[in-house]
Amino acid sequence: MRPGGECLLQDYSYQYGRGESRFEETKVKNPKKDVGPHVLLYSDRCIMCTRCVRFTREVSGTAELYVDGRGNKNEIDVFPGVALDNPLASNVIDLCPVGALLDKDFLFAQRVWFLKQTPSIDGITASGDNIWIEHNQGNVYRVKPRTNAAINKWWISDEVRYGWKHIHADNRLRSPMRRQHGALIEDDYKRAYEDAIAGLKKAAAAGKRLALLVSPNLTCEEAYALGTLVKLIDPQAIFGLGPVPFEGRDQVFPPGTPEDSPKAFKVYAEKAPNARGVQRVLGAIGGMVLDAQAFFARTREQDIGAIVATGNYRADWATPEVLAAIQRSAGRFVVLIDTHGTALVDHADVVIPGASWAEKAGTFESARRTLQSFEQAIPVIELAKTEGQIALDLIAEFHGTPGMAEHRASVVIVDEQPGQVPAAVEVVAPRTRLFNAADIRAEMAERYPGLGAFATDVQAPVVEPGHVERVEMVEL
Ligand code: SF4
Repeated sequence: MRPGGECLLQDYSYQYGRGESRFEETKVKNPKKDVGPHVLLYSDRCIMCTRCVRFTREVSGTAELYVDGRGNKNEIDVFPGVALDNPLASNVIDLCPVGALLDKDFLFAQRVWFLKQTPSIDGITASGDNIWIEHNQGNVYRVKPRTNAAINKWWISDEVRYGWKHIHADNRLRSPMRRQHGALIEDDYKRAYEDAIAGLKKAAAAGKRLALLVSPNLTCEEAYALGTLVKLIDPQAIFGLGPVPFEGRDQVFPPGTPEDSPKAFKVYAEKAPNARGVQRVLGAIGGMVLDAQAFFARTREQDIGAIVATGNYRADWATPEVLAAIQRSAGRFVVLIDTHGTALVDHADVVIPGASWAEKAGTFESARRTLQSFEQAIPVIELAKTEGQIALDLIAEFHGTPGMAEHRASVVIVDEQPGQVPAAVEVVAPRTRLFNAADIRAEMAERYPGLGAFATDVQAPVVEPGHVERVEMVEL
């Protein structure tokens, strides 16, 4: 634990140290320094272990940090005119043993002893990097690396560390909406589900095709549940994978290191966590899976009677191309399941609010082809539901299964503990069966031989929360 509850040295001192200091000389007072966009250096806490300097030389390969001065005058600093600003820079915060390097984003945001840790997987890029989501009372406060020697070692990129802010964005969709007399109105789940199933059934009854677009940000289990729903209504439904965002090129650190070197750390240009998983699952249950371009071209054909589209993107994905393809009209019904309000909302007949990856459990297949499961960190925001739960609810609605007709929200207390005021969150009840990712994985493997890997190959998080792994001597 360093200062503010997170200094390993302070902990050892309390456990084994003397009650009073033997130091009689005048203490050196060093300044606080702003060393980069995300990192502050409180120099007078520094014990000159030089871990941070080694990191920038041996892991990121960018060498922004150095030791300035000699003897009791030495200090960690950045080279003049050079900021600690590289895609891996904030890892120095985690490896500093005394909290001298501080995360500007987390500074004074929350008492660390209130934080709960949930093991998760990078939900921002295709890396499959192992992370802890640290949260309290329904809010995420920070993301840190979780050790996995075979995947991300001890590190994550700054993009993964700080890329979660969309979870609490103001434009999150928080309530179902349905179209009444031409206008979209907020309504309850009962009517939204009734309208959605009626519209999809009507399109199928008219001999038209249903088209399902599954976002690469959804889990494998959710792709399965949505694919099952749509196939139930139209066995010849068309499946597509949502647009997969890319930014620049893959980067390997330290620069120039071969990708397969044990020293290499890769930052992926692909900015979606589960394109391969969605493709694998939809392919097993529905045959051909169109990429986004082909899907959008296909939706322009007259035989498409209804579209079920899922978003869950960090950034606005309603490009002119998407808006042109996902269009409601007299002859076409559109159900949109999304997390954030975009121009697409105005193109839908029914809108159902979905959940970010921190609000659900599931499995992602990374660009490394590893299947890794993760756990739900925080409750789903207000009246939203996970896309998997929405699919199960709609399946129950299709079958007319008796259930909780009103789908009422109940208020539950989360993270009640000494020293803080209890927080209340609203949770909406499932229509009938609760979506459980582990049960869905077992069902997938049983029903489809091509999905057998979900019973045998999914790697579950193995580290207990709060556990500090044995410190190994490693060659960096
Ligand atoms: S890691 Fe922390 S304690 Fe070690 S040299 Fe860097 S700033 Fe100082």
